[in-house]
Amino acid sequence: MTLRVYRRIDEVREALRVVRSEGRPIGFVPTMGALHRGHASLIVRSEEEQRPENGLTVVSIFINPIQFEDRADFSGYPRTLDDDVACCEEAGADMVFVPSADEIYPEGFSTFVDTEGAYAERLCGRARPGHFRGVLTVVSKLFNIVQPTRAYFGEKDAQQLFLLERMAKDLNTDIRIVGCPTVREADGLALSSRNGRLSPEERRAALCLVRALEAGKSKPEKSGNPPRGSATGAFVASVKASMSAIIEAEPLARLDYAEILDEETFGEVCDTTTKALLAVAAFFGETRLIDNTRTDTDFRKAQDERR
Ligand code: AMP
Repeated sequence: MTLRVYRRIDEVREALRVVRSEGRPIGFVPTMGALHRGHASLIVRSEEEQRPENGLTVVSIFINPIQFEDRADFSGYPRTLDDDVACCEEAGADMVFVPSADEIYPEGFSTFVDTEGAYAERLCGRARPGHFRGVLTVVSKLFNIVQPTRAYFGEKDAQQLFLLERMAKDLNTDIRIVGCPTVREADGLALSSRNGRLSPEERRAALCLVRALEAGKSKPEKSGNPPRGSATGAFVASVKASMSAIIEAEPLARLDYAEILDEETFGEVCDTTTKALLAVAAFFGETRLIDNTRTDTDFRKAQDERR
């Protein structure tokens, strides 16, 4: 099937209605364009998972104005549609949906999907007020338009992935949310549409994010003394401090956050934490980058071994 590009909601709905009526699965990859190998990996994964059932993959390209709290970030966001369509085709997508802002938010639009709870108020939720309200609203709309079987999101945006899984559960959405590993440059920097906005010096400086995560990750093993009870707090503080110190030592970086949290609850790491997420964010000039990694440390197991 050759790639088809749709700009209107009614057209893409009609094309997908036919696919659905034939009982074929639909894989969906929502993006904001400026596509790179990270996005391509999501498309390839979707294509692989729909192919056995003769399904197809839809990619949306929409720079969602309501998830940008910073106007300059929105207006400066890279727009590379021709290259993006070529990338979709090469990765094996079947349809690209590129709506205008008026198509998604016509006059009178006034309904939003929002999230509450501790996990929404941390990391990017705290740093970017209103951001996740914009993300959840647009993804809900896109889900209703595309009605996919499976939707693919990157682990690079770990909090977004967590909140979307939460939303799918909370709103009884019958769509499987699939998390995909972060694709990185050879030197470890996570691919991001914003990397192209870095000067060569800022690009070098951005590696402090990778070093910070490595340092945070090595802490549990290095300590040889797993957290227990009140020791958990000291452990969390020491991981955060070691990550922050690395970012703060980089003159071209401005630390936004360096956090460790329970991957399953997105709450504080505690005695029962089995998997932790290390997450960092920093500005390099005007460009804000985020990254994260998981730690295998099973605090509970380590404590049992001590008993
Ligand atoms: P964006 O266009 O930045 O909104 O991203 C669209 C999707 O691509 C999101 O699910 C992101 O998490 C995912 N993504 C972005 N960068 C990467 C990466 N380096 N590796 C894997 N997935 C990514």
